[in-house]
Amino acid sequence: MGELPEALQVSLIPVLNDNYVFVIERGQQAAVVDPALAEPVIAALEAKGLELTAILHTHHHSDHIGGTPGLLQRWPQARVIASAADRLRIPLQTEGVQQGDHFPLLGEEVQVLDVPGHTRAHIAFVLPVSGHLFCGDTLFAGGCGRLFEGTAEQMYGSLQALAALPAETQVWCAHEYTQANLRWAAQQQPEDPAIAARLADVLERRHQGLPTIPSSIGLERATNLFVRACSTSELADRRLSKDHWKA
Ligand code: ZN
Ligand code: FE
Repeated sequence: MGELPEALQVSLIPVLNDNYVFVIERGQQAAVVDPALAEPVIAALEAKGLELTAILHTHHHSDHIGGTPGLLQRWPQARVIASAADRLRIPLQTEGVQQGDHFPLLGEEVQVLDVPGHTRAHIAFVLPVSGHLFCGDTLFAGGCGRLFEGTAEQMYGSLQALAALPAETQVWCAHEYTQANLRWAAQQQPEDPAIAARLADVLERRHQGLPTIPSSIGLERATNLFVRACSTSELADRRLSKDHWKA
């Protein structure tokens, strides 16, 4: 592999109803995170003349891994990185990783965090040098993932670990759920100016057909009621409220 002088860049591809696939690129090489589908990813990479060198997975749900077999048909040499604890549910792994692991990607180092709650083996990827976080369905813009396999205690710990990252870290979460999350939050805390301001910004962006992703850790600390929860029980109450909330 030669020098990679260009800055690392991240972009998103909207797929399915509300999923995002993320493309990390540097020079002519790319990695993707959570490919729900193969075709739109292949089209986007080919349009830019990019070679896929790695596929990263945050968890085993089909809207995060469904495109991997098709991508491997097009780029058979690509690394496949996922939770070692989920080897059975995320097949085709070439590198199983866990909390505390580091691996090289496009000339940068990626750190792995265990962030259980949505699923029992959910992981997140942090690129500390360029300041990016890929958190799948754990932390959402203004929200958090549903507790399918984990406990509120696990989700609380996972969100606190992510919130401890530097404030300027760009947060690339895998679904466009921001508008519903902020509408719910504004109903919970109608007097909160930071939440009201963010809701107005999100409504304007969505009105223009723009994504609300990436967010930042600083913005989530200020406006995300799940990140702001002071205890496991407060998080559990808020998760239950959001689960039963109708727009
Ligand atoms: Zn999921
Ligand atoms: Fe998902």
